[in-house]
Amino acid sequence: MIELEEAIERVLGAVSESSSEEIRLADAVGRISAEAIVSPASLPRFDNSAMDGYALRAADVRDAGPASPVSLRMVGRVPAGGVHVGDAIESGQCVRIFTGSPLPAGADAVIMQEDTLVDGDRIDCRDSVKPWENVRLAGEDVKRGAELVKAGAAITAGGLAVLAAVGVGGVKVGRRPKVALLATGDELREAGEELPPGAIHESNRATLAELVRRSGGEPLEYPIVPDRLDATTSALKQAFDECDFVITSGGVSVGELDFVKEAFEKLGGSMDFWKVRVKPGKPFVFGQLGKKLLFGLPGNPVSAMVTFLLLARPAIIRFQGGSPERQSSMVGILGESLLNRGDRRHFMRVRMDDEGTVRPAGMQASHALGALADANGVVDVPPSSTREAGEKVRVFRWDLELR
Ligand code: AMP
Ligand code: MG
Repeated sequence: MIELEEAIERVLGAVSESSSEEIRLADAVGRISAEAIVSPASLPRFDNSAMDGYALRAADVRDAGPASPVSLRMVGRVPAGGVHVGDAIESGQCVRIFTGSPLPAGADAVIMQEDTLVDGDRIDCRDSVKPWENVRLAGEDVKRGAELVKAGAAITAGGLAVLAAVGVGGVKVGRRPKVALLATGDELREAGEELPPGAIHESNRATLAELVRRSGGEPLEYPIVPDRLDATTSALKQAFDECDFVITSGGVSVGELDFVKEAFEKLGGSMDFWKVRVKPGKPFVFGQLGKKLLFGLPGNPVSAMVTFLLLARPAIIRFQGGSPERQSSMVGILGESLLNRGDRRHFMRVRMDDEGTVRPAGMQASHALGALADANGVVDVPPSSTREAGEKVRVFRWDLELR
């Protein structure tokens, strides 16, 4: 039996170097950038107006006010997307301008239209403006050469706006691993099917598929695998042929009907470790078949979710070139104490609310599913100890998208 930290280290060490692919910018949110993205342009791209109004020379209206308006002659008009076609504007002149329109040469400020009165091509300015007032200067927002996205960071919706604005059309991102999901057990039936005596509905694949998706992986669900060595071997073989990672649930205990390890070794896989000193979650199997990885989760749905979060999610993120530490947890404050009477670290199910308060979610027995719908993560509680109300705790979250 090994400690969780060692298990995570071994798993991450086994993840093969990520490969990258070029995708359209529009598809990039939530994907991990394979390289630092440096801005090819400055923003704004040119000096432009922050207001609908008139571009002018600030010195002309230095003394303007409601009682002492200054009259300027309008010599042009620049709609958004256009440019001033005449000469640089001179003292006594102004140009009609709109938000985002380029500032004409010769102008050094914009007076907002609310401070003017219009009479044909004569514009009465009823307020003063300072040099560069109501002007957005080229490059004041983003400098050409600035790093917009770090290598290994996920691309955000806001990031998309910046990248599009500087003219980036495609990005290089880490490839998403294909993740096979297999459920083993003679007792399992598909959701919605009639249950013969002793049977139960299978519930792991759908949940794990969603957790894989939130980790950036591409889940593939396979049919339920009966508890037979030949069936387990052929199901595993197909999954390893088609996917980068294979996640099984069930069949990794010491029972005579637990065939995952045996089938995996028959296919030439090598077992790395079996059993991690955490609750819920023992037994858990990790192995390698060439560059592909096996995560043999316990069948128990709570244990499967917890071990996925602690051991498989980090691998899926690392495969894409991301940082598992950054992507998996948030810090909150305990609203109630968490007590672990046992002699193993207990990852207790909790709900962290929008204010960051963390409370236990229902019964903590490993077979208890009732409160899972309410839980959004787990908190590590060391053996024979209490984490007190008011304490700051790290919550490993099931519901986080890559960020
Ligand atoms: P196992 O790890 O195969 O010994 O299974 C442990 C417990 O989890 C047993 O009660 C199984 O019936 C149950 N179980 C195993 N796989 C699943 C599954 N995919 N969905 C729901 N329950 C499961
Ligand atoms: Mg079983």
